[in-house]
Amino acid sequence: MNQQSTTLSRHLTSDGIVVWTRCACGRLRMDLVPNGGGRPLTAGPCPRCHADAPDAASPGA
Ligand SMILES: [Zn+2]
Repeated sequence: MNQQSTTLSRHLTSDGIVVWTRCACGRLRMDLVPNGGGRPLTAGPCPRCHADAPDAASPGA
């Protein structure tokens, strides 16, 4: 299994849904999904683990 992030909690706010996620490396990340749709705002993305598509050209990096 690859590293995976874990959803800690979800909060409904007047702006949208705030989702707290814990990265596989333990780092906290916050996502805000706007009520009206549109692109979610992400705070504190992990530069190491956040990549959805792993770079096949860097084994063991
Ligand atoms: Zn991470």
